[in-house]
Amino acid sequence: MSSYNKLGIENIRQIKCFLLDMDGTIYLGDHVIEGTYEFLDILKKQNKRAMYITNNSSKATSQYVEKLAGMGISAGEEDFFTSVNALVYNLNKKHPKARLFVLGTPVFEKYLEEQGFEIIRQYYVEKEKRPDYVILAFDMTLTYDKLRIACDYIADGVEYWATHPDMVCPVKDGRVIPDAGSFIECIYGVTKKRPSFVVGKPNPCMIQVIMEKYGYKNNEVAVIGDRLYTDILSAINAGVCSICVLSGETTKADIEKASEENKPQYIFESIKDIYEILKDSKNEC
Ligand SMILES: [Mg+2]
Repeated sequence: MSSYNKLGIENIRQIKCFLLDMDGTIYLGDHVIEGTYEFLDILKKQNKRAMYITNNSSKATSQYVEKLAGMGISAGEEDFFTSVNALVYNLNKKHPKARLFVLGTPVFEKYLEEQGFEIIRQYYVEKEKRPDYVILAFDMTLTYDKLRIACDYIADGVEYWATHPDMVCPVKDGRVIPDAGSFIECIYGVTKKRPSFVVGKPNPCMIQVIMEKYGYKNNEVAVIGDRLYTDILSAINAGVCSICVLSGETTKADIEKASEENKPQYIFESIKDIYEILKDSKNEC
């Protein structure tokens, strides 16, 4: 177990809700990280909650439920909170039933329509036909036409939001594919404009919505993740406990290089170490 921890391990035992990143934290590709089953099991026994939070806006929640079920992890749709859920929450607060031009997958578009938003699919010169927002998500069905129209609307001054800033998405064999952050850079190259709001981690929005919805206090929530600039920063920005696991992207050297205010409060080799801490607290009761 790593000895670098800013706070005592007792603080971890007070946590009531663990917000879990998925890739690099509970699984790597198709392989479940050691200690994950035991960790989830002990949360149930101790009446603590696990929620999965992800920036990925290309999949529906039901697809994640299926993916985890295939790995032997049982979770319901209510156990997930994605950048898409947080996007809809914020759109509803600001502009319910807004008209949207979307760079996103068909699953993403369908979800937005189900939530009462209107999808605009072409470029209109007429003001009354134009979208209220351009929404950039992780679009694995991106076409040149969609990109061109989005750039036109953004250049014209239509408000522009993005679901998350990740540059790449990890896939099999250590390879990565272009993610929403890369599209943000592409659009910036064309329009010299960036999104006015990026919903996903490191923005604390997802965490804040969960805390509001379930009534958790700051010291009752922890984020466990493998990326400093998304998972850990979102926890720091939300003022909740930050736990970095070294089972994914981040190395000890990366953490040493990070500035003091961006360092996680806890560093562990993997989720197994957190299970060990919770298990020991059970024995003490
Ligand atoms: Mg991750």
